Amino acid sequence: MITGKNYIGNNLSANGSKTYKTFNPKLNLENEWAFYEATEEELNEAAKLASEAFESYRNFTAERKAGFLRVIADEIEALGDLLIETYCLESGLPEGRAKGERGRTIGQLRTFASTLEDGSWVEASIDTALPDRTPVPKPDIRKMLFPMGPVAVFGSSNFPLAYSTAGGDTASALAAGCPVIVKSHPMHAGTGELVASAIQKAAKKTDMPNGVFSNLNSSGIEVGQQLVQHPVIKAVGFTGSIRGGTALYKLANERPEPIPVFAEMGSINPVVILPSALEQKGSYWAEQYAGSIMLGAGQFCTNPGLILGLKSETLDTFISSLGKEIAKLEPSCMLHPNIYNNYEKGKQTAASQAGTSPIVNFEKDAQPYFAQQLVLTTEGKNFLENPKLHQEVFGPFSIVVQCEDTDELTAILHHLEGQLTGTILSSVREVGEHANVVSALGSRVGRIIFNGVPTGVEVCPSMVHGGPFPASTDSRFTAVGPYAIKRWVRPVAFQNWPRDFLPDALKDENPRQILRLVNGVYTDAAI
Ligand code: NAP
Repeated sequence: MITGKNYIGNNLSANGSKTYKTFNPKLNLENEWAFYEATEEELNEAAKLASEAFESYRNFTAERKAGFLRVIADEIEALGDLLIETYCLESGLPEGRAKGERGRTIGQLRTFASTLEDGSWVEASIDTALPDRTPVPKPDIRKMLFPMGPVAVFGSSNFPLAYSTAGGDTASALAAGCPVIVKSHPMHAGTGELVASAIQKAAKKTDMPNGVFSNLNSSGIEVGQQLVQHPVIKAVGFTGSIRGGTALYKLANERPEPIPVFAEMGSINPVVILPSALEQKGSYWAEQYAGSIMLGAGQFCTNPGLILGLKSETLDTFISSLGKEIAKLEPSCMLHPNIYNNYEKGKQTAASQAGTSPIVNFEKDAQPYFAQQLVLTTEGKNFLENPKLHQEVFGPFSIVVQCEDTDELTAILHHLEGQLTGTILSSVREVGEHANVVSALGSRVGRIIFNGVPTGVEVCPSMVHGGPFPASTDSRFTAVGPYAIKRWVRPVAFQNWPRDFLPDALKDENPRQILRLVNGVYTDAAI
């Protein structure tokens, strides 16, 4: 049942008087539940509980924390159809997408549980003493990663499950040993409350300390600002707009004790098409890219918003095929009126820039909140000189840029801001002949793709979902995959520490049999 209340630790609380409702964009009406915005007192209580919970939770064994994550996954599954129905009512997204995202969320939680059980993620490193070294003896130094403290997580609008209440940020922070306070996304507060109830049930079943998790409702920026500024919070996870992410990043850096903000923000995900790809498979790529641009009404951070090709007849044919393919696809409903309005504004700004033209015109507008797709085309020089065309338009939008030559194409890549992904469509021979293009693209992105589409992010250890600013605020980390855990930890070194009081990961016997760097050699052997 959805109560509209906040979870302050395991207590359902509604002390405030401000309420708001979520919205069904498909039916164009408000959903029934009223959500109580968290008060400052409730936020302070959640922070106090998180701080107290950290003192014990940080020291729990890997198996105990893994057990908690696995039971969260089970409890989310046990929410059954109610979760799926609520997700669809609050997002306008179809049932298949809801089920797929639930599977990914549960899968992520179980992956982090396995990462904990494996144990090697703590990066244990041991340099044994050399007491006879001259002129000074070498001490025994041992290092591993430890949790930083309570983490604030901002639920994202475009992933109501996989990047919200129990999504990748929360799962990785809990795995690291950090209590989490979620600032629920106002567009899917009911989905958030249901998932929060599953986390609380799991916490109770596995005997976790009260305060290991809290969920705060809010439909404005104040609660999020207070959370980021709260002295108890030691790091922040965010997915959303460049404006929101950079505002929170600035706030976190202005604190008396600055803290890291891991914000995953905007990206236009450039795609370079070299001539061989168009000669061999032009119509195939047109169909693939129409689908990728339209996927989920374009509301993916990996949406291909920029396609760069070299002026030629084959590029003209590709543009015409892309126009035909994109015209075949029906517009779908966007997540929320705000996102729809932002999309319409962004689209109009881009389309009104000099030297741009749509590759296909639609006779009638889509119904309210359904995003009518738009693909523009322009010349390389025009694109290069107009930064307004470089901005992300969040929705089913892209620009095909016709470059004079590879020098112009490379110059464009050098002028782009940081990106999550970059793609090259080409034959193997031809990509080998364009080292400068590959190098320019590689320097701007977190993931470089050969002959594929950027939408679809595999959750696995080798994935990098991040990139130079403004794709993310810290390009050294990934928000997807087990290594997302590294965002919430810091290394601590023990010097000449008594053997009996070392953490298991650093003990001579290596009781957890994890992979460690011992005197410069990777091994799982005891010392
Ligand atoms: P958003 O506006 O950035 O909001 C995300 C979350 O951060 C919300 O909970 C919001 O709170 C909070 N927030 C935003 N600005 C804040 C600030 N200055 N201080 C404190 N909290 C702040 O993103 P959104 O609502 O998901 O979507 C809006 C736009 O963001 C979209 O139209 C799209 O352009 C972009 N977006 C991009 C991506 C991507 O992956 N690239 C993903 C999602 C959205 P409130 O909502 O309660 O105000």
